[in-house]
Amino acid sequence: MAGRPARQPEAAGAGRPPRPGKALRQRLAELRGPATTPHPLDARALAALAANPGCRRRALLDGAGVDKLALAQALGSPAAFGQSQFAHQRGNTFEARVKADGGQALTRLLHERLRDGSPAPEPGTTTVPDLTAAGPQGRTARTALALREATAAGGWALLDHPMVSLDIAGSPAFLEPDAVVVHPDGSWTVIEIKSFPMVDGSADPAKVGAAARQAAVYALALDRVAALAGARVRHEVLLVCPKDFSNLPTAELVDVRKQLAVTRRQLTRLTRIEEIAATLPDGLTFDLRLADDGRTVTRPVEELRAAVDAVDAAYAPECLSACELAVHCRARCRAAGGVESLGRGVRGELGGLTTVEAVLAAALGEAADADRPAPPTGDPAVDALRRAAALRAEALRAAPAAVPAAGPAPAPGPAPEPAPAAVPGPAAGPAAVPGPAAVPGPAQGAACR
Ligand code: SF4
Repeated sequence: MAGRPARQPEAAGAGRPPRPGKALRQRLAELRGPATTPHPLDARALAALAANPGCRRRALLDGAGVDKLALAQALGSPAAFGQSQFAHQRGNTFEARVKADGGQALTRLLHERLRDGSPAPEPGTTTVPDLTAAGPQGRTARTALALREATAAGGWALLDHPMVSLDIAGSPAFLEPDAVVVHPDGSWTVIEIKSFPMVDGSADPAKVGAAARQAAVYALALDRVAALAGARVRHEVLLVCPKDFSNLPTAELVDVRKQLAVTRRQLTRLTRIEEIAATLPDGLTFDLRLADDGRTVTRPVEELRAAVDAVDAAYAPECLSACELAVHCRARCRAAGGVESLGRGVRGELGGLTTVEAVLAAALGEAADADRPAPPTGDPAVDALRRAAALRAEALRAAPAAVPAAGPAPAPGPAPEPAPAAVPGPAAGPAAVPGPAAVPGPAQGAACR
């Protein structure tokens, strides 16, 4: 399940990245609002940040501790994703069942999957240290001590909901993995328990990928503790899921080296938040100016919209399942005619054509007439578009009654996200033409970034 986050104003844990200066901390406080408590980051949020490293908007908002969900609601574009209450409860129930025997089943599952010929844990020999302490900093310190002691003891140990910290642009985020197992050889494994089913040893790849990214954040945070304890964090995490739609646990090891590298790189990039902040106009803030009831937003929505739009975004349809601001960013991207809203694949295929208007102009050429194909240009993207436009015009001529005639492009609206299959590649047929039904309206300005 997702770790429970907390955030404290003081540093925690040796070996973390250096804190930015007072000026940046003050600027970040201004950005979220002087009276606003920084919104905590959890492993899921950090993993999503790493999944879209080019988005300066998200990096800044997360770095400043802005509550993106509240911001999206204030903008009138609430997030359309998240775990349902039912799924949350089901996950908690499954996790409690998996740990009900004090971690014996978990260490047994882990040992089975290792297949390294080492002796299996004897029943009743897995220790479960008490991690109780006051506050996130106290729990982080208690976890570090328990990990050191368990490593020195040289046996199997299971840390149930330990707490580790990771510094994000000067604000320590406290993260709570489902469990960490200490092996007799002194290595540590992150355990990630999910409620989606694993059927015949495999699960939904998208969900496994999300779990791997989340577990990689935990592994990264543990790295700092391990360095001090003379231990190592294994790069394979144990993903535990219900077996074949039952309540019985099954597990697989997932290699998270790639996710670790991406997260590490992205966290390094986050230290450049100062640069993003420096490009913004003085006085710009995302402060919602909540009324005394702590809920009512008093800031005019136009002001908020202007503040958000002042920071470059890198919208992609994947944002819809990963970022609270996705509905707002999609609307702005569509309004600007940005091709990013069609998917990263389409965006990549179109090369330097960044707006729908530019794509249509390239497809039709100077003649701007779909019935008279424009000559090739030597630009692969433009030529592919012209070929597709010619095929479309031919199809329209051949079956005028069956296909609606091309007309003016409709205004941008809440049309469903077009699938990446509409990439206008060399082999594209009439259906791939970026015609009026497949894309938002003509460009009205710059693209999304
Ligand atoms: S939804 Fe917007 S802010 Fe969030 S990652 Fe996507 S582009 Fe960035």
